[in-house]
Amino acid sequence: MLLARWLVCSNISNTCATDKLDSGCIEMPTKRKRRCKACGKLFDPTYDKGKVKQLVCCNACCAKYYDKQKPKSRRLAREVSQMVGKRSMGEVRFDADHIENKRAVQADYEPDSFVYTVEETRTYTPDWRLISRSGHTFYIEYKGVLDLETRKKMVRVRDQHPDLDIRFVFQKASNKIRKNSKTTYGMWADKNGFDWADNTIPARWLK
Ligand SMILES: [Zn+2]
Repeated sequence: MLLARWLVCSNISNTCATDKLDSGCIEMPTKRKRRCKACGKLFDPTYDKGKVKQLVCCNACCAKYYDKQKPKSRRLAREVSQMVGKRSMGEVRFDADHIENKRAVQADYEPDSFVYTVEETRTYTPDWRLISRSGHTFYIEYKGVLDLETRKKMVRVRDQHPDLDIRFVFQKASNKIRKNSKTTYGMWADKNGFDWADNTIPARWLK
């Protein structure tokens, strides 16, 4: 009875809520057992996702199946390795040779993800360096588009070079930093401690 139902209901092993063994499962059959193209055994396709159709039962059969295909291509290798949830035929073969049949301990492929922070050095080149009549040196950053990447960059530069006087000239200071945002380029500059002007150099800057 259980086996018969296994064939028509893909959910019986975990989430099937119908629990109608005698009257039959009301779920539409979504996954049936399939015959492995390499070894011919019946298996449950567990990696079927979107366009991926799992034609082989395991990593070893996946490697055998790939070896028989002609012509070989990177695309084919990617598609075939996806059948068993891997990203390359190298991973498929490694799993077949070193993981699959030697399970002394539990082995899971890509079970966890961990966040890490990248620290790298970059260079910022301001557009103009000006010297006012009184001898004050400052830089002008001219911006048509003030995107997120630039905003983050300028805040970092500001924090790491507190002695630099960097001022923005916006092509249009009333532009918003994002679609549907109320914050204009000018408001963003004020908030972040940058002097700014709207497509001109104010007389006061040159005193
Ligand atoms: Zn097989």
